[in-house]
Amino acid sequence: MTDNIRTLDKIPVTQLKGVGVQLANKLAKLGIQTIQDVLFHLPLRYMDRTRITPIGSVQPNTEVVIEGEIRGCDLVFGRRRSLMCRLQDNTGMITLRFFHFSNAQRQNLKTGSHIRCYGEVKRGSSGLEIYHPEYQFIDQQHPQPLQQHLTAVYPATEGISQQRLRIIAGQALGLMKQHQLTELLPDVLNQSSLTEAIAFIHEPPKTAPVDQLANGDHPAQQRLAFEELLAHHLSLLQLRQNIQQHGAPALSCNKNDETLRMAFLNSLAFKLTDAQQRVSDEIKADLAKPIPMLRLVQGDVGSGKTVVAALAALQAVAVGKQAAIMAPTEILAEQHRNSFQAWLEPLGIQLAWLTGKVKGKARERQLSMIKDGTAQVVVGTHALFQDEVEFNDLALTIIDEQHRFGVHQRLALKEKGKDSNQVPHQLIMTATPIPRTLAMSAYADLDCSIIDELPPGRSPVNTVAIANQRRQEIVERIRAACSNGRQAYWVCTLIEESDVLEAQAAEATTDELHLLLPELEIGLIHGRLKPGEKAATMEAFKKGEIQLLVATTVIEVGVDVPNASLMVIENPERLGLAQLHQLRGRVGRGQEESHCVLLYSTPLSQQSTERLSIMRQTTDGFKIAEMDLKLRGPGEVLGTRQTGDMELRIADLQRDAHLLPTIKTAAETILSEYPLQAAAIICRWLGDSERYGQV
Ligand code: ADP
Ligand code: MG
Repeated sequence: MTDNIRTLDKIPVTQLKGVGVQLANKLAKLGIQTIQDVLFHLPLRYMDRTRITPIGSVQPNTEVVIEGEIRGCDLVFGRRRSLMCRLQDNTGMITLRFFHFSNAQRQNLKTGSHIRCYGEVKRGSSGLEIYHPEYQFIDQQHPQPLQQHLTAVYPATEGISQQRLRIIAGQALGLMKQHQLTELLPDVLNQSSLTEAIAFIHEPPKTAPVDQLANGDHPAQQRLAFEELLAHHLSLLQLRQNIQQHGAPALSCNKNDETLRMAFLNSLAFKLTDAQQRVSDEIKADLAKPIPMLRLVQGDVGSGKTVVAALAALQAVAVGKQAAIMAPTEILAEQHRNSFQAWLEPLGIQLAWLTGKVKGKARERQLSMIKDGTAQVVVGTHALFQDEVEFNDLALTIIDEQHRFGVHQRLALKEKGKDSNQVPHQLIMTATPIPRTLAMSAYADLDCSIIDELPPGRSPVNTVAIANQRRQEIVERIRAACSNGRQAYWVCTLIEESDVLEAQAAEATTDELHLLLPELEIGLIHGRLKPGEKAATMEAFKKGEIQLLVATTVIEVGVDVPNASLMVIENPERLGLAQLHQLRGRVGRGQEESHCVLLYSTPLSQQSTERLSIMRQTTDGFKIAEMDLKLRGPGEVLGTRQTGDMELRIADLQRDAHLLPTIKTAAETILSEYPLQAAAIICRWLGDSERYGQV
């Protein structure tokens, strides 16, 4: 009885016919626990099983329903044993091919029986074939009715067939007629009916516009995409609210701060660019407030983010508190340490240094300096996140994340500061420009500052793509550049992400280049070297003692040698645009005109050709990011595909970007006027996941 008023998010899947504990466990793997979850497990695509195609007119690479009479089955022993079954109607003949089959199955497929098959048509050795079709026997007197709607294909997991998922969805749709699927969007948003959209999405009528569905721009899909993107947006805003309901130490700009700031700026060999100045002012104002700053600084490679970070750190130091700066790799952390040492130690500021490679006594010493507050600025890698690291009074965390996404918040969350109701301010720096639309949704929890100007005196990098067959010419170019007192990089790339293989490849290339260029000092740097060795090689390169530096992609970040004006990237087709852009940013830092040679292997795929051509056309990081987004999709661009963050069920950030402005205002309305609704929307689309809203 009470069932009638229960909403679907309260009814467990086990209420469905045929769903026992075992199946429920499998469904749980897909995030499905309630009837509402079933309804929000959305199809990936559709098949048309509403009509039968005459065998004579089937086309390769299409999915069809066909019906016919079995004319014979043969066991064929080719490269793989297979069962081939000829099916005929009055328009033609086709072959069904099975690589896996039971004896019973084989005996059942008798000559003369009639079957109906579903499957994808391929060109095979015997003409048109369907591999492993789904099939059923039919009684010609009482034929099975055809599907009345398009057939959904769902995201699946092992042990649950598509057929099963369709039956479950069908039952859930039935329940939706008796029970309520709660409309969570307030009326003011003027959105169409959710129930209708859900019913349509699972079982589109056979008259539905198939192309529109395939593109994802059918109104029913757009209705759901809107709600999904809204859910993500709300979750990020809520995360922000949760963090900001804690206080933060107000790093007020007293006289002490100004003195330190001026001393620092005066000690620099350069003047801040207008962009650096502007972003620094934004940060300064944020830090002076008693609420945690949550700010993202985007700035292309070489735009001078480090100095902006140092200025922020000084503001914490000036009021006797600590700042921590975290880099994604050891080599980049080292680079920061060098900069900070050179800049801050002359001002009497004490640094600590912590990475996974700092061990034993040295580690203890660093840890105790961090704990007792002797260390005013702490530089390191993600080792700073470890539990054993205790800060004395951390007021600011700076995360230089290059192109990783999603690690922010962690240090702030762990560290509650001296006053347990306070969390540190957060500054996140990224060198990967993020297209505006993406930034709007992926970083909705952060305020954004953009350093959109490079320091003066840089000359643009001239980029060419050259096939590996012309390798010798490139070697000559290096010879010429180095004999003119310039320096060069040679970057080796590998398909597999293996330190060992990558190091071997770089070693082999170094040997080859030694033979070809005996007069040059050649250095080698890769991820397998000890930190000391890396530092020594980098130092020698900086000083000009090494003329040609062979490197793996470890030099992608942080390396700064203005006299290096030529970079050769071997097999650039293996890298993404963002990574290529980062690498190329290592040259073009001096007055001399710089060159980047993309030394590719033939043949190039269509996509690689496009990528390399984009690299030749522009050095603007934002343009490159926009192109990258078009070519690879948002998951790859944000680097979140592997982590599963921002995994969308129906929305597509690129396709649905036009919804974002409305979503932004809708989210604000909901959070301020319907906060309970906000939680329910988030829960419906993202689940009760731990990572959301937790502080
Ligand atoms: P990124 O934004 O890639 O982290 P860095 O902070 O490493 O860039 O800066 C790149 C180089 O530019 C460094 O050598 C830095 O000292 C220098 N630099 C930074 N700001 C300026 C400026 N305003 N004028 C001249 N050089 C600058
Ligand atoms: Mg940097």
